[in-house]
Amino acid sequence: MKALLLPILLALPATPSALAAEPPAKELFGSATTPAPAPAAVFGSYAKGCLAGAVALPRGGEGYQTMRPSRNRGWGHPDLIRVIERLARDLRGQGWPGILVGDMAQPRGGPMRTGHASHQIGLDADIWLTPMPGRALSDPERESIGAVSMLRPSTREADPDLLGPAQLAMIRTAALQPEVERIFVHPGIKQRLCTTAGADRAWLGKVRPWWGHDAHFHIRLRCPDGQPACRPQEPPPPGDGCGAELAWWLSDEPWQPSDEPPPPPLRLDDLPAQCRTVLEAP
Ligand SMILES: [Zn+2]
Repeated sequence: MKALLLPILLALPATPSALAAEPPAKELFGSATTPAPAPAAVFGSYAKGCLAGAVALPRGGEGYQTMRPSRNRGWGHPDLIRVIERLARDLRGQGWPGILVGDMAQPRGGPMRTGHASHQIGLDADIWLTPMPGRALSDPERESIGAVSMLRPSTREADPDLLGPAQLAMIRTAALQPEVERIFVHPGIKQRLCTTAGADRAWLGKVRPWWGHDAHFHIRLRCPDGQPACRPQEPPPPGDGCGAELAWWLSDEPWQPSDEPPPPPLRLDDLPAQCRTVLEAP
């Protein structure tokens, strides 16, 4: 994890003082209220990029409703909209009451003022593990209803009374969507998936332990076809990810407070050059 800091530092502009007048990229992208009018195009990587031609997920549809509308983070590449709507339909068919969709991307993607390092290119979405109530939620409810942690209090262990078979099946169904390359969950959730999966394990490798993500899971799509400026990730390592890596995540080490200072906020010049055009589009 510490090695990740090095590329960030190397990517700093040579003369930061010359750029001091320009606010951090999160302020610039966090102020954009509409998508850049253009065909859908992804520029850069999940944690350093932006998006033109973003599409909004409707407030609700068959088997889903969106949460926290005031954040205006319900935007994505059309592939993401399609996958969420298909997943909601598939899960409804399996008897799940419906999904609550949390943060996706900002209208032009890019870094956010709060909450996420990734979600920058319209290919990430947070999906709550809390079932959807069987009625249309009001705006105040969408802002105030809380997502419920699946962990036993003060542990790294999932509570099977909360993370039941329906939730486990939901994560598996999401992992089986061909466009989904990774799913991030709390290691306690990954552990529960590992112990209950039985012989059907091929999809487990997509499910990656990460901090947070104990009340929702995070789907990440691969770069869409025909998007040469989308920077792909390495595919997940082979295997089901239930061995040594998960044991490390469940140990104390990843949860120690870090003495390293947080990386400086991204500047517009740290992002692909096209992101300036995306930001400045009318
Ligand atoms: Zn997330």
